[in-house]
Amino acid sequence: MPQLNRTPAPVDNHPHVVIVGAGFGGLACAAELGGTNVRVTVIDRRNYHLFVPLLYQVATAALSPADIAQPIRKVLNRYPNVDVILGEVKGVDHAARRVVLADGSFVPYDRLVLATGSSYSYFGHDEWAKVAPGLKTIEDARQIRARLLGCFEQAEVTADPEQQKALMTTIIVGGGPTGVEMAGSAAELARYTLARDFRRIDTRSARILLVEAGPRILAAFPEELSNYARRALDRLGVTVLTGQAVERIEAGGAVINGRFVPAGTIVWGAGVKASPAGTWLGVETDRAGRISVAPDLSVPGLEGVYALGDTAAVAGDDGKPLPGLAQVAKQQGIHLGRALAANLERGEAMPAFRFRMRGNTAIVGRSAAVFDFGRYRLKGWFAWLLWAIVHVYLLVGFEKRLLVSLQWLWRYMTYQRGARLITGDVPAPLPPTVEREAPAEERPQEERQRNRA
Ligand SMILES: Cc1cc2nc3c(=O)[nH]c(=O)nc-3n(C[C@H](O)[C@H](O)[C@H](O)COP(=O)(O)OP(=O)(O)OC[C@H]3O[C@@H](n4cnc5c(N)ncnc54)[C@H](O)[C@@H]3O)c2cc1C
Repeated sequence: MPQLNRTPAPVDNHPHVVIVGAGFGGLACAAELGGTNVRVTVIDRRNYHLFVPLLYQVATAALSPADIAQPIRKVLNRYPNVDVILGEVKGVDHAARRVVLADGSFVPYDRLVLATGSSYSYFGHDEWAKVAPGLKTIEDARQIRARLLGCFEQAEVTADPEQQKALMTTIIVGGGPTGVEMAGSAAELARYTLARDFRRIDTRSARILLVEAGPRILAAFPEELSNYARRALDRLGVTVLTGQAVERIEAGGAVINGRFVPAGTIVWGAGVKASPAGTWLGVETDRAGRISVAPDLSVPGLEGVYALGDTAAVAGDDGKPLPGLAQVAKQQGIHLGRALAANLERGEAMPAFRFRMRGNTAIVGRSAAVFDFGRYRLKGWFAWLLWAIVHVYLLVGFEKRLLVSLQWLWRYMTYQRGARLITGDVPAPLPPTVEREAPAEERPQEERQRNRA
């Protein structure tokens, strides 16, 4: 196939910055470069920016996908110097200074910013992904929603009580913020939203198991907050299993600490791996595949190449890599955008990035949350209110739709979940299954799920 140069017109002699990925980091970087004398091209394989922190609400029918996704072109249309390309990047030819796309075309750059994020890691068991989707994309969230709701539908028409119990069991793997938020929201869906909608089953008896291999959930939070979150989940009827490993996943259930537990829905929220950007560049990465970048976010040894967000490893003030958080990616994007503009327009040196923690939060159902501000900690209803205000603010900033955001908050507070659509294939009914000891050969010793830090 002839190689097509996809450099956007008009071509002039202004320096050209190519940003791969319009997630939190890439989009913030592009916005900072908007309106400058720098030509910018943003490449993403999706045509929308996704507000990932609220994906679990799509998976549990509280929000529709369009509520948390916004077209990249719309976000950036006010900047005439910023162009957008819908395309999947497959590699980087740094010698020729160009990005290579999956269709064989390429985009030349003077500066390259890689902001391609991360995906779930199944620790060498990629075959589990089919049965236990992670929560990273709209497709994942819709699949989980279809399974959760589809299993209740099937349980309603199943006479076998064991099969009913299996269909109404959800296993969530990983006790990090994603697992905790997903478990709380799934429990509320079953206990409150669906409680009066079925005739033969009592959805309130649904089992939600949150399985964590480490000693406590929310391991990145202070112990006091993780204990509070556990109590809040207990109150919602979630069974929290700590110190227990998911050793195998198959259609119809999972082996947890040597015991096969039948389940209609399994959600994976345990391990994270960086995008393959490090492989494209052929540079050193850490164990999670993240590119080890210099303090100014440049990739050592490759002049003019930068990486940020989940795909980069940047040391914080304590010397440890910064966590994979939207606020880290966003702050890095803003920093790098400003620094590149000053460098390319006025020849200023590239300054080091410094992260400012704005607080770490996780929500446990409709009226409980935890907030960790370092020196200060908040938990309970007030923390939940703060979480709600922050997210309404972020969604309004994101979509500029105050009404939609307030409607969402109202529906959420009153358990009225309007997005209860089963789309795609409804999962096939499970064969009658009972809990049993897994035979010894089904119990690999070393495989232990890890936690999302
Ligand atoms: C379920 C869940 C809940 C979370 N909740 C929170 C939270 O409450 N608070 C918080 O701070 N953080 C949260 N996080 C973490 C946060 O979402 C990430 O840290 C953040 O999205 C990282 O931003 P990023 O810009 O590095 O990557 P992303 O936001 O993942 O964006 C990467 C972009 O790159 C594009 N891309 C990837 N590969 C290619 C390619 N080959 N070609 C073209 N485009 C490509 C993708 O389409 C995507 O648009 C959560 C994460 C998950 C999964």
